[in-house]
Amino acid sequence: MAVNCRRCREAPAVIDIPHHQLSLCAPCFLKHCRDQVQRTIDAHKMLEPGERCLVAVSGGKDSLAVWDILLDLGYPADGVYLGLGIGEYSDASAERARGFAAKRGARLIEVDLATELGFTIPEARGAGRSSCSACGLSKRHLLNRVAVENGYRVLVTGHNLDDEVAVLFGNVMRWDLPYLARQYPTLPEREGFARRVKPLVRLSERETAAYCVIRGIDYIIDECPMAVGNKHLMYKELINALEEKQPGAKYHFFLGFLDRVHPRLEDVGEEDRAGLRPCVRCGSPTIAEVCAFCRLADRSRNKKARRRKRQRVAEEEAPGVPAGPGPSHPEPAGGSRAPHR
Ligand code: SF4
Ligand SMILES: [Zn+2]
Ligand SMILES: [Zn+2]
Repeated sequence: MAVNCRRCREAPAVIDIPHHQLSLCAPCFLKHCRDQVQRTIDAHKMLEPGERCLVAVSGGKDSLAVWDILLDLGYPADGVYLGLGIGEYSDASAERARGFAAKRGARLIEVDLATELGFTIPEARGAGRSSCSACGLSKRHLLNRVAVENGYRVLVTGHNLDDEVAVLFGNVMRWDLPYLARQYPTLPEREGFARRVKPLVRLSERETAAYCVIRGIDYIIDECPMAVGNKHLMYKELINALEEKQPGAKYHFFLGFLDRVHPRLEDVGEEDRAGLRPCVRCGSPTIAEVCAFCRLADRSRNKKARRRKRQRVAEEEAPGVPAGPGPSHPEPAGGSRAPHR
């Protein structure tokens, strides 16, 4: 028998949210999503009323959902899309981001990683880091640069509850106190760095997907082909198995961390920050002279230059014979894959 919405008690429910003990109809669910985002923004001082912000948009459900919700809540939110150079996957993601911007009449800034940094994510692979680690580092660096250069003081990302729980789980597994101290929905603005905020941390992946379906938002469902071996995917599988047996486990784990554990890590955070100094190249905070991003960029560009040299030598030695694989296409991948924000 169809269950009626617990809020309006009139329309049939279309989704249940176990951790809130709610079953909601479509309009009440959309209101629930907007309320959760506004509550998160207020609780963590993410945005002033009506403050302009820049949303990092990947074409996935989370980034498009947060952009849509911010616009509906009255925030003048523009988008930024980074072309990562991941073959057809990047082409399809860009189309979704452009389609959404056109439909909502919103501004979308497009930036190409290869043009800005001199390498794509497939080209950075193997330069001392996993694809996702190189990608995360490059995105953080470039998104901040785009925000600051375009006069935005706030950068919004679409990290949802499941993402934050997986990161928290990984940090707890290693008891990495500095990382735990840094894990918070708002990272304050500093000289040369925009404030970074995550307004979706109270909404699960299931909720953001349902939000997009109900709102008719066309998002990329295919998963990134470069995420093979991503540890967070393994953590998500484990946590989903736990959530099935114990509904609400994710929500209480993360919210409990923010309320009860994070405030006790203030000293760790201060100690961590005291050890940081600006990177001599880009000014990012680092414990070394040159930051992890600048070292990655050097390795990736050197790797690309060496490959080009090998190709040239091979072509000179055997004219007319193709010199091995092209420069930047990811291999088709099997196994576990990462969802896209
Ligand atoms: S899964 Fe995400 S972080 Fe990993 S390479 Fe793809 S886009 Fe980058
Ligand atoms: Zn209702
Ligand atoms: Zn640097």
